[in-house]
Amino acid sequence: MSNSDTIFSKIINREIPADIVYEDDMVLAFKDISPQAPVHILLIPKKPIPKLDDAVPDDHALMGHLLLKAKQVAQEAGLENGYRVVINNGSDGGQTVDHLHIHILGGRQMQWPPG
Ligand code: 5GP
Repeated sequence: MSNSDTIFSKIINREIPADIVYEDDMVLAFKDISPQAPVHILLIPKKPIPKLDDAVPDDHALMGHLLLKAKQVAQEAGLENGYRVVINNGSDGGQTVDHLHIHILGGRQMQWPPG
């Protein structure tokens, strides 16, 4: 499967539905289909970067934008008591979709260490 064929590219292109909570020209945020917390949102770049390891210096502004938008999306979801931001990278990191994504999890007390 080429990178542009991931399920997240299909969501960006509106080929499959998603519950979208934020969009601009660089990023898209939508609810995770299998939520692990009362709030579980995925925030992705529209550029199909497969994983964090594949980000390059030219992605500097995009990566900063992503993190600032993670904060905004969390605030707009009402997570005033805090939240967790997670990037799974590669197989040992537990990544299952080869399109870089930030998990925003909240609405319950998070535990540490993660599994
Ligand atoms: P990863 O394990 O790669 O860090 O996270 C992938 C996430 O994508 C999982 O939490 C999974 O539930 C979510 N996911 C997989 N397929 C879909 C889908 O078709 N729609 C949505 N909204 N989320 C999905």
